[in-house]
Amino acid sequence: MTTGEPLIVLESVNKWFGPLHVLQDVDLSIDRGEVVVVIGPSGSGKSTLCRAINRLEPINSGSIVFDGQPLPAEGRGLAKLRSEVGMVFQSFNLFAHKTILENVTLGPIKVRKEKPAAVRERAMQLLDRVGISSQASKYPAQLSGGQQQRAAIARALAMQPKAMLFDEPTSALDPEMVGEVLDVMTSLAREGMTMVVVTHEMGFARHAANRVVFMADGQLVEQAPPDEFFGSPKSDRAKDFLSKIL
Ligand code: ADP
Ligand code: MG
Repeated sequence: MTTGEPLIVLESVNKWFGPLHVLQDVDLSIDRGEVVVVIGPSGSGKSTLCRAINRLEPINSGSIVFDGQPLPAEGRGLAKLRSEVGMVFQSFNLFAHKTILENVTLGPIKVRKEKPAAVRERAMQLLDRVGISSQASKYPAQLSGGQQQRAAIARALAMQPKAMLFDEPTSALDPEMVGEVLDVMTSLAREGMTMVVVTHEMGFARHAANRVVFMADGQLVEQAPPDEFFGSPKSDRAKDFLSKIL
């Protein structure tokens, strides 16, 4: 569900780690409501791209604009950006000594200073939406990996983000739990959330993405709607990558 209205715009973005040029003149514009799946070999810069979008990683040159504003470097602006761009990582990153409900309510209460009662109500609705409301009073270690990752998604959603970044959200999961996490992400996509998803789950890319972006060696090599990308990849590098994973 794309609106044709850009929410995240990267222009000539460059990023080096020492001598390593990990993002090379990256241009990428993501519309509100668009679901972009980023694929590519390990080390191609996918995580760095995600981290740059919520400024976990500063860039060396170029510009990133989110919702009409250049990314703020610090202070309140940065805190606001981080709450507006939810991020879900491969490792679930839940607070081990807080319950699932507390994990979800913490950000809105502490960072956004919202009223606890209202936040708890919204958190329970979110836990229900990701199918784990019965686990609300448990601690992360008592949940399966799939449940923990769904809790991490609920936690990001509790901040009412304008976009969600997923960096290999199912890579650390046992195979039988991958589906339940992808189902939550698929419904989020259908509801119109703007999403950037780094994943090796090509089924998700085919069914949920508006666009597939293929990265290699720090460059956006090729991008197209999933049917087109998977049906007739143009670059040799994309063909080679697909031949190894499909
Ligand atoms: P991907 O997610 O596609 O596997 P990354 O964005 O994690 O790729 O990494 C791109 C390149 O940058 C890799 O060569 C990686 O080793 C390197 N890299 C990532 N983070 C750092 C860092 N903090 N310091 C130095 N090199 C890094
Ligand atoms: Mg990565």
